[in-house]
Amino acid sequence: MNSLKESRNQVLGQIEAACQQAGRKAETVQLLAVSKTHPSEALREMYATGQREFGENYLQEALEKMETLADLEIEWHFIGHVQRNKTKHLAEKFAWVHGVDRLIIAERLSSQRLATQPPLNICLQVNIDGQDSKDGCQPEEVAELVQKLSQLPHLRLRGIMVIPAPNNVAALLDAQKLFEAVKVLHAHPEDWDTLSMGMSGDLEDAIAAGSTMVRIGTALFGARDYSK
Ligand SMILES: *Cc1c(COP(=O)(O)O)cnc(C)c1O
Repeated sequence: MNSLKESRNQVLGQIEAACQQAGRKAETVQLLAVSKTHPSEALREMYATGQREFGENYLQEALEKMETLADLEIEWHFIGHVQRNKTKHLAEKFAWVHGVDRLIIAERLSSQRLATQPPLNICLQVNIDGQDSKDGCQPEEVAELVQKLSQLPHLRLRGIMVIPAPNNVAALLDAQKLFEAVKVLHAHPEDWDTLSMGMSGDLEDAIAAGSTMVRIGTALFGARDYSK
């Protein structure tokens, strides 16, 4: 079993190689460490290797880790499904929420973000390849949502998040096209800088298609054990 430092170096190497292949600078792709189901000690160990951005899917689990790891300067990203009645904690505790797919959710997050905090960073989740089981708005809805969400006072609308089916390279390219196309509709187009796309299995293809943030769990922490 690799140490977390070794696996992180390996993933950073993969990102660098994929960037080189795509003619991009390695700094243009950020690594989000997806730590769901892994214990706080694993996050602490990963933090010690230099990792600062962590992604969590389950609110209760994330809140417990935040308390345990309060001495660390972690940037917390929520990448799970956003439930309408859970927005208050998301608005107050996280730096980023990637799974926003409806105006009502964004409005709640904006009104619940404290005025003393910096704006909450938001990615609009798009169901880019028409999957039945997946969350996310439809691609046709993105234009209107960008117009509306980018005007909400306590949010900073950063870009798009997608989770296409494995090996669907066409969907990755569709996401990039959509990401580029709607920028002009943003009330503050300079904020529109994040294409959150790519997981352990499709990191290279995602970077070739323009991803600026890859969300990596398994390749960093190993397989998840949901039985515990
Ligand atoms: C779990 C998860 C990931 C990480 O997936 P791996 O295949 O383990 O890298 C990325 N994004 C989202 C939204 C996830 O839920």
